Amino acid sequence: MPAYPARQLTIALAAWGLAWASASPVGAQQPSLAEECWSPAALAAKAGENIARKGDHAFDAAPTDGWLVVPSAPAATNATGVIRRVTLPPGRKLIALTFDLCEQPGEIAGYDGAIVDYLRKENVKATFFAGGKWMRSHEERARQLMADPRFEIGNHSEAHRNLRLIDGQKLRDEILGPQRAYESIRTHLAETQCAIGDPGAMQHVASRLALFRFPYGACNDRALREVDDQGLRAVQWDLSTGDPAPGVSASAIARAMLTARPGSIVVSHANGRGWHTAEALPLAIPKLRKMGYEFVTVSELLAAGEPVIAQDCYDNRPGDTNRYDHLAAHRHPASGGAWTLPQ
Ligand SMILES: [Zn+2]
Repeated sequence: MPAYPARQLTIALAAWGLAWASASPVGAQQPSLAEECWSPAALAAKAGENIARKGDHAFDAAPTDGWLVVPSAPAATNATGVIRRVTLPPGRKLIALTFDLCEQPGEIAGYDGAIVDYLRKENVKATFFAGGKWMRSHEERARQLMADPRFEIGNHSEAHRNLRLIDGQKLRDEILGPQRAYESIRTHLAETQCAIGDPGAMQHVASRLALFRFPYGACNDRALREVDDQGLRAVQWDLSTGDPAPGVSASAIARAMLTARPGSIVVSHANGRGWHTAEALPLAIPKLRKMGYEFVTVSELLAAGEPVIAQDCYDNRPGDTNRYDHLAAHRHPASGGAWTLPQ
């Protein structure tokens, strides 16, 4: 019997090679790791996956040990503060689209596959700020995003708590949680057959998260210092589409996106709470491209110019996210009420 499985494997490999050769004409782009590891159907949006499941506590308990094998170093002191946008050299028209993947205790948030499908189809680069809890409850989607070179993953805290209201180890765990989840999931990706078969596959999958986005866009000096100490750069935005408000239509979101400037960082949601964002993208992105804009990840945007750094977090004007202190402190996270808040 020992020869038979080996022969079977040879036949399978030959068939795979033939299938691959026929699917890849000479000169075609190399498939991404995401395309090597998943079929188009497995990557595509699934009906209902964008809808949050309230009252589900399955992923509430975050692991507080293990992983974190990648050391962090405090960010350079001149980078302290919150990045709002990037000043670019004249003539460069780059925009960073960002999508938050927020998930609180007592719920499993959604995955808005229609957004990701569109970005893949149109080859639009983007950055996803993912909660550690979101990554743990959506491990396969997190791996797919990780394996796609168009996308960058940033840290959006463990369970979307207002970081102005916690301190000490609790604050540290909220900031480290996504790194723990990311390292664990990255290891699982590296161990899958499709990645093992390609020695260079994991090269462009970052080994640690470099960017951080505060839940509710709310911070204070203590939280900013902690983010800095963990070697993360805090990234906010200069353009909010307002998509967590169900009443904001696709055309209103598209209109907001069309006000982007060179170096803008745009915030939307891909956890099912960006209610009309999937419909808005096809309205805005072709127009922005016609206006000469190119879409890049936040890290690429930062590498192309000089960040505009604020010393405090805010949405549209300084102090405006402090109003979430009362809500986040007194409202039960699973009530869903917090999700009517902007970020
Ligand atoms: Zn969020």
